[in-house]
Amino acid sequence: MNALLIFLAASLAAGPARAGQSPDLSQAFSALSAQAKRASTRLKASDAQNHGAPRLVDSGGAVRLAPFVCAGSGISDAQVSADIARARKVLSQCGLKIAVSPAPYPRFSLPDGRCNLETDEGSPVFSSDERDLISRYRTKGAGVLTAFYLSWDSEDPNEAGTSIPADYAAEVKTAAPASLRRQALGTLFIFQKARETMGGDAYTLPHEMVHILTESSAHLYAPSDSTNLMYRPLGYASTSASQGSALTSAQCARIWQVSGQP
Ligand SMILES: [Zn+2]
Repeated sequence: MNALLIFLAASLAAGPARAGQSPDLSQAFSALSAQAKRASTRLKASDAQNHGAPRLVDSGGAVRLAPFVCAGSGISDAQVSADIARARKVLSQCGLKIAVSPAPYPRFSLPDGRCNLETDEGSPVFSSDERDLISRYRTKGAGVLTAFYLSWDSEDPNEAGTSIPADYAAEVKTAAPASLRRQALGTLFIFQKARETMGGDAYTLPHEMVHILTESSAHLYAPSDSTNLMYRPLGYASTSASQGSALTSAQCARIWQVSGQP
């Protein structure tokens, strides 16, 4: 997400970023997961700040993901599968699983056969491309994260990914019809060309998923958080996207809290 969307820079800045640095990742992941569930139980009753979004995590900890690939983009199913595998590992830090239908992933098209998305990030409405994709593919999308794989973002060709978490829909897209805002929740866009320019930006998919799962457009900026999935250097250019993959117990707790699951 670009700098326009940053609201609450420090809101997730609790706890050291540990996973990803430990030689024994699976142990660290289960410890974090247990902590997250405990913290979630404590927080749930007092602070339900759900923006009307459908529950995105089921009682078994599964997040449903529906990837779509722009026809003619040259993006392969293997690239998408590799992304999903990395996202699975990242989200397992919070005890979450990803439920997704196996490849081949369905293709979609934009008008004129384009695979560059016109976005409208600071604007109070959605772009016509966004409206088009949301209304065509999100009609049955309650409780599902929909990942659209495209070549690039026309507004910012260096953007690796962007998403529509609940705070962004509620606080920025204020002139969009409420029904469209609701339908848009859980939408994310991955831009493959920008990721290649940046040397891969391996964690774009889980980064955008966590924006949605925490209902937050916030990033972390402290240099001590540089291994965190949600870290972005202050004043970052989108060309300097982070390669961090760690999530803190506070971030995991937030996901479970938002989902309303124990
Ligand atoms: Zn972001």
